[in-house]
Amino acid sequence: MNKIAVVGAGISGLSMANYLEKHNIDYHIYERRKKEDLAGHGFLIPQEGIEYLTQIIDTALLFEHGSFLKKYIQYSHTGKKLAEKDLNNVFAISRQALIQLLSGNISSEKISYNTAIISSDIEKGKPKHSDGTDIEADVIIVSDGSKSRIRRSLFKDEKMRQVQENEVVNIIQNEEIAASIENDFIKFHHDQGGLTFGILKLSHDTILWYSQFDNEKYKINECTSDNLKKYMLDVFADWYPLVPSIIQKSSYEHVHLWCVYELEELNPFYKDNIAFIGDAAHPLIPFTSQGVTSALKDSYTLTKYLVEEQTFSEAFQKYEAERKPEIETHINNGRILLNQFLLPTDQQTDNILPISYK
Ligand SMILES: Cc1cc2nc3c(=O)[nH]c(=O)nc-3n(C[C@H](O)[C@H](O)[C@H](O)COP(=O)(O)OP(=O)(O)OC[C@H]3O[C@@H](n4cnc5c(N)ncnc54)[C@H](O)[C@@H]3O)c2cc1C
Repeated sequence: MNKIAVVGAGISGLSMANYLEKHNIDYHIYERRKKEDLAGHGFLIPQEGIEYLTQIIDTALLFEHGSFLKKYIQYSHTGKKLAEKDLNNVFAISRQALIQLLSGNISSEKISYNTAIISSDIEKGKPKHSDGTDIEADVIIVSDGSKSRIRRSLFKDEKMRQVQENEVVNIIQNEEIAASIENDFIKFHHDQGGLTFGILKLSHDTILWYSQFDNEKYKINECTSDNLKKYMLDVFADWYPLVPSIIQKSSYEHVHLWCVYELEELNPFYKDNIAFIGDAAHPLIPFTSQGVTSALKDSYTLTKYLVEEQTFSEAFQKYEAERKPEIETHINNGRILLNQFLLPTDQQTDNILPISYK
């Protein structure tokens, strides 16, 4: 097997590196950010994702760093219980913890931080370091995220569009709130649709809360954390008291506002000696909660075919044929979940789980 370069050390790049490591395939991984720069939100990971994760991370260690959620409970914004469902082993973990666990298995010679890869000469299958020097590799696995520059350089006609939803995500330490929500995932919905507030526990003293906004109704221009807090307090002032009290008590040190984008149509998942995995191949909107599981399955499947097939082009073809139909299902499910979110709650169907299942 020839040398492989992996571009990007997010969940997909690091899981790819872990699978390659397991099969003793030579690789090097390049990451634009610094090693200690671990900003990010948190993930809901369904049972299937856990099965792939525990092939590459020690199970006990993984479970120490997050928590299993037992029930999903949906409330109206005034606190009336609307529905409840059991969550079948959905796991919650911060991005920072998962990145640390996945990078723990990669030796320091195999990963270069602070090293951006640029897409000049990409058509010749030769991405370069930002200083212009060539990357020494025969096969390139691109995992540089939803706005992948390498993908956009190769597929110049692609169209990305903003989704009718923004998310504010915050991770805070507060033992009292964490204890009060136990292991439930609770989510409040505005009766008129287009606005939610969800809360879940990551550990005994850490919670993640997030809010989803219909960006046609709610124009959030408040990018500093102080202004964001004021905006949130204003919008949620008359909600069930738990919501404004959490917004008020939170530190805004790690708050993040996400604008969500999707591809109008998927591109091929490979070209020549370059294959795409994770969000770089297929941005999935957060409603699906399938970004991490899909990234893991991409890495697993691509590695399996790199091991089994004679040439990388056969491996790439089989990888795409296996993964694309499932991704298309999640994209469609994501659009259905987004449309549900935009409707008043009395018009939403009873498929309330905030997760796309195949
Ligand atoms: C608000 C929000 C909530 C979400 N919630 C969930 C959830 O609950 N469950 C779930 O499964 N998924 C969720 N997702 C989706 C999930 O975050 C992504 O699917 C997943 O993180 C994709 O990982 P990735 O490695 O493909 O991309 P990324 O995490 O974007 O990683 C890309 C990496 O590439 C690096 N990079 C970029 N360009 C270069 C370059 N030129 N050279 C070198 N390195 C480069 C970046 O620094 C980054 O580290 C959510 C997403 C959002 C926005």
